[in-house]
Amino acid sequence: MKINAKWITSPTDTGMAPVIFRREWTLQKEIKKATLCASAIGLYEARINGVRVGNDLFTPGWTTYWARTQYQTYDVTDLMTDEICIDIAVGSGWAVGSLAGATRKRFADYTSLIACLDLTYTDGTSEQIATDTDWAVFTSKILYSELYHGETVDMTATEKPLGKAVLSDVSTKLIPNEGAFVREQERIAPIELIRTPAGETVLDFGQNLTGYVEVCITAPRGSRVSLHHAEVLDADGNFYTENMRSAKNEILYVCSGARDTFKPTFSFQGFRYVRVMEYPFEKIDLAAFTAVVVHSEMERTGDFVCGNEKINQLYHNIIWGQKSNYLDVPTDCPQRDERLGWTGDAQVFCRTAAINYDVEQFFNKWLGDVRADQLADGSVPSVVPNCFRPRDRVPKTDRASAAWADCACVIPWELYRAYGNKSILKKNFNLMKKWVERMHADGPEEFLRLGEWHYGDWLGMDDGPDSYIGATPMDLIASAYFAYSTALLVKAGEALGRDMTKYRTLYENVVKAFRDYFLPDGKLFLRPDLNTERGKQNPPAETQTAYALILYFGLCEERDRQYCADRLAALIRENDGLMTTGFVGTPYLLHALSENGYTELAYDLLFEERNPSWLYSVNHGATTMWEHWNGIKDDGSFWSKNMNSFNHYAYGAVYDWIFGKAVGINTVESAPGYREITITPHPDRRLGFAKASIRTRTGEIMAHWYYKGDVVYYEFEIPAGVTAHLTLPSGRTATLVGGTYLMSE
Ligand code: BGC
Repeated sequence: MKINAKWITSPTDTGMAPVIFRREWTLQKEIKKATLCASAIGLYEARINGVRVGNDLFTPGWTTYWARTQYQTYDVTDLMTDEICIDIAVGSGWAVGSLAGATRKRFADYTSLIACLDLTYTDGTSEQIATDTDWAVFTSKILYSELYHGETVDMTATEKPLGKAVLSDVSTKLIPNEGAFVREQERIAPIELIRTPAGETVLDFGQNLTGYVEVCITAPRGSRVSLHHAEVLDADGNFYTENMRSAKNEILYVCSGARDTFKPTFSFQGFRYVRVMEYPFEKIDLAAFTAVVVHSEMERTGDFVCGNEKINQLYHNIIWGQKSNYLDVPTDCPQRDERLGWTGDAQVFCRTAAINYDVEQFFNKWLGDVRADQLADGSVPSVVPNCFRPRDRVPKTDRASAAWADCACVIPWELYRAYGNKSILKKNFNLMKKWVERMHADGPEEFLRLGEWHYGDWLGMDDGPDSYIGATPMDLIASAYFAYSTALLVKAGEALGRDMTKYRTLYENVVKAFRDYFLPDGKLFLRPDLNTERGKQNPPAETQTAYALILYFGLCEERDRQYCADRLAALIRENDGLMTTGFVGTPYLLHALSENGYTELAYDLLFEERNPSWLYSVNHGATTMWEHWNGIKDDGSFWSKNMNSFNHYAYGAVYDWIFGKAVGINTVESAPGYREITITPHPDRRLGFAKASIRTRTGEIMAHWYYKGDVVYYEFEIPAGVTAHLTLPSGRTATLVGGTYLMSE
């Protein structure tokens, strides 16, 4: 369907106050069908005769608005009466409101709306009510709304006319909705009312989450409910908001005098705790407050349980990290003034995400924006939609950080691996190819990526406690990813039946150059002139992340593999048994160990409880994944103010090791989508038992192992039509086809 309508805007700039665009109409004939199409620069919510159209939130969604903006289509036949009044509220959202810090208007100066009501009558004729300058504009009861800062809703406010809409100059391409709709998903009641040492009244919802608080209240007209949001309490038990940076997360409701149900329309918060600043009654009624969990529609596909309660809590936190950050785009965090589509975070977590949920549609839309944001030279930005891009011109190039820009190759491949759908590869093949070409074309060495700035091993712990970048040389990370992305491009091309000779040769050259440069004689050699953040006084370091990448990406000669694995294990042991890896090394670390004879050490790291470790945050009461291993230190103080999210999913990528190695389920890549699988369990007594399942497009796969005395029992469920190649720890193999199996050894 095409929208035959004009873009319109308000005659008056109301700043951060949304406006309502209104059109009234008298139907002359009997209606057969009515369809509303709408989109906005900003966010919109449509009502017909006061009834909300659909139940989707934050429409039209977040895309690279310069290139493409979605519109939604709703069947509104049931809402038709003789007199109709279309009200569409439009707020600032991602396009116009504060985004990436305090800066507003990153995509546009003002909000705009386009909409069209298509009417088909029973006599076969049709008519359209489309946005134009006949639409009237009003102020709304929402006096203020910003995604980061919160919302003010005044039920006593009257809607004031602002005049007729004016035409708006919007340049974007309207596309039918591609993404998974954002909707309300769960409702959580507060578990406790806390009086903090500072004397504040705080609601505890018991779970860090993304969404908003719904307040149901009957209170005197003009009385107020005011709420602030936070993820954690500080060491003294007081409400803590410094890690939100400039994001205010403040809600204010002014009551009508009748029964009111309040919730924000164009704002969401990341929170567990809510400070009640104003409330009309002496005693707080907990039943008046409900936390509404909001995220994109995704079908849950994975489940996991084991015999260790802390690992079960970690799994819970991983799931909640995903729920909290899959809000239309894969965001880094839901609370501070970022909530951006950081490409590195998205790619390291993607495999885990696709085990937990069906994320194909969710990523299909986002990859459309990755393609739209890719520059002519193949550069891929660090955030998509790229709100850091200048508005007035398309840059020729971008610094394209390794591991972030590589989302271009990793995500299409991981989706293909998970769902076996070739159209994902087809659609994104050029994106992948252009990215690999960009790496190839760039820099002083044809087959290496040298000398560029990257995010490094973001938040790695091996360059001092306050480093953001870690000690692994950027050139090594970038060159390793050059090889990895090229390998994925080759696999994608081969899956599509294309001639990949050229890229296979490129891959061989990149691997050879990597070996010559970083692994002469098979040993890691770090030239003193390597590009690091650390400055000349700090020589490049031999790091855990370097070996994790070399091993996981297969960059050393086969004969040197054991040496690299031994060095990796030695570095961990020399560091008192602790990992030092950041965003880049951590997702591969346990794989690199267990693929090379160090499964027990991988488990040691999984069970580690000191900082840094996955269970450190679990022991400190986490209900979601933390951005920083020790976001809350042992003494209760915070790691930092400005980079300390308690809802950052990246380190949750460890679940792809738990699923793929500990339980041992993997798709065979030549039969993706789990049509043919391998099951290679790695039982460990400390876990007691482990049971994982995944509902694939071919049915549900389940693998379960448990100890009884010295014997390990295995149970498997294989759907009909799926072949599983089983290898037990003893080396015993079997081929399993559709059915249920029990065995032991
Ligand atoms: C984000 C990260 C992101 C990083 C870039 C941070 O501010 O929250 O998750 O990947 O910047 O290194």
